[in-house]
Amino acid sequence: MSKLIGIDLGTTNSCVSFIENGRAVVIPNTEGGRTTPSVVAFTKSGDRLVGMAAKRQAVTNVSRTFSSVKREMGTDHRYQVDGKSYTPQEISAMILQKLKSDAESYIGESVTDAVITVPAYFSDAQRQATRDAGVIAGLNVRRIINEPTSAALAYGFDKGQPCKIMVYDLGGGTFDVSILEINPETIEVLATAGNNHLGGDDFDQCIVGYMLDLFRKEHNRDLSSDPMAMQRLTEAAEKAKIELSASMETTVNLPFLAQGPAGPMHLEASITRARFNELTAHLVNATKGPVQQALQDAGLKPQELSRVLLVGGSTRIPAVQEAVRSLTGKEPARDINPDECVAMGACLQGGVLTGAINSLVLIDVTPLSLGIETLGDVFAKIIDRNTPLPCQHSQVFTTAANFQTTVEINVLQGEREVASANKSLGKFRLTGIRRALRGIPQIEVTFSIDTNGIVHVTAKDLGTNHAQDITISGSGNMSREDIDRAIRDAERYAAEDKQRKNQAQLKDKAESLLNQARRVRKKLKDADRSGLDAAVSELESAVSSGSDSRIRDAVDRLESILNAAGSYTSDPDNQQDDGAYDA
Ligand code: AMP
Repeated sequence: MSKLIGIDLGTTNSCVSFIENGRAVVIPNTEGGRTTPSVVAFTKSGDRLVGMAAKRQAVTNVSRTFSSVKREMGTDHRYQVDGKSYTPQEISAMILQKLKSDAESYIGESVTDAVITVPAYFSDAQRQATRDAGVIAGLNVRRIINEPTSAALAYGFDKGQPCKIMVYDLGGGTFDVSILEINPETIEVLATAGNNHLGGDDFDQCIVGYMLDLFRKEHNRDLSSDPMAMQRLTEAAEKAKIELSASMETTVNLPFLAQGPAGPMHLEASITRARFNELTAHLVNATKGPVQQALQDAGLKPQELSRVLLVGGSTRIPAVQEAVRSLTGKEPARDINPDECVAMGACLQGGVLTGAINSLVLIDVTPLSLGIETLGDVFAKIIDRNTPLPCQHSQVFTTAANFQTTVEINVLQGEREVASANKSLGKFRLTGIRRALRGIPQIEVTFSIDTNGIVHVTAKDLGTNHAQDITISGSGNMSREDIDRAIRDAERYAAEDKQRKNQAQLKDKAESLLNQARRVRKKLKDADRSGLDAAVSELESAVSSGSDSRIRDAVDRLESILNAAGSYTSDPDNQQDDGAYDA
């Protein structure tokens, strides 16, 4: 049976886990890291790098390295490289492919199914895009679950004690806060709130802005349009930020940041924690509103919370922890790893789905209200935010004009009374409405949200029973054909990867055989050397021709000659190379 993995597809780092002996276990990547940078790069020689290898070369390959892709999920942003244009889903799929293949190497079995997490506050389009990325990567996405819920699952699994907790999740690019009720057999989300565009990247940008100002004052030069300098500044800013979580002061040292008329220009600056707190106070403050809103929606006072869990790398910032303390009056829990708990919760949820874990039910909620636009730019809410999933609600509407036979349904998500101030998820038309005076036709609009948080809308003319429906796919999403094409591309790439690996192995084998031939030749009498010499030069010329079939034939020939010479060893690498081949 193939395995299911839980994936935390993060803005900055991703993490993957699976269930082993009934417990969630984090899977290290092939480089040995427990999390993998969510970075993809295309090298000039046509290779694709994912993870740490991509992150390491970012400074020298700025325009062909893509990070923080999660921020663009569900938008129509495109990444251009070598005349090809990639959607955020396709780039994310490359990260997922690496996680999948690393998991397969670790587990030693194929992995087909996954539960992938998203920020609770992700919109429908962003969820669809995440699911599409999984499909492109060749994964059967069994469930999309919310990150804070997943963290609570990792925390609450096995705890058994009924309690209400808050999960404060500040990652690289998103902020979520959720209030959950944990019972021995159920975990129920009571409320969730957040901001899809607030995270560690913004803290880095504050430091970048500060350093740009310093550089401008010192050298009278604006570096903001120099991509390589900006990449170095961004990396240095993140490093400084992380250091400031542990120390009160840090220095940024960037030699040769730019070239001026009088020679190279350097940047050396020291930043204190107090200065960093000042620069980023507005970001920390921006998390307060959602915390208060989630508490209010859950009908709870801070003192009614048993625990506050901190999730996401940015919760290591001392000012963030201080804000949580002052908002809730609680010391945040430390018995959970903020980088790993989301992926662990995801595989536990997978375990529930596959039956590997029973007696645990997860009840999630929809993060934003849903409804349609009605006359006068008014938002008619059909499903309120924080409604438990799955859910289905209907409401009956009518026509606005006499003899109107068509209505356009504009599906909206948001909390504003004014329709146009909310986000439109998609539009569709219901035609063939029976001709009647305005106010007579009865049009029933039904919203349903599945357990992945994905929305489906139906409009039905109750007079004729004629219905129209859509599964929402926002403008940033991909059509079925686009997804199929991307799957083919991803499979082709996987096949190319395999071919490249086979080629490398073949070349390696050829090298080893040539080395072995050199050793064997020394032991042969002159008269016996000619066959070996011919096979060696044939293999050498095959290697320089680059033709796989020629190399394979020449390898076979040399192998059989070495065998006949009685010296062939099936593990030629174990022998020492003792010198060059001398003809
Ligand atoms: P996540 O999306 O949960 O992996 O969080 C990644 C974000 O956490 C990035 O912006 C990191 O720079 C940030 N981060 C990681 N470790 C620390 C730390 N010790 N102090 C401050 N920020 C951190």
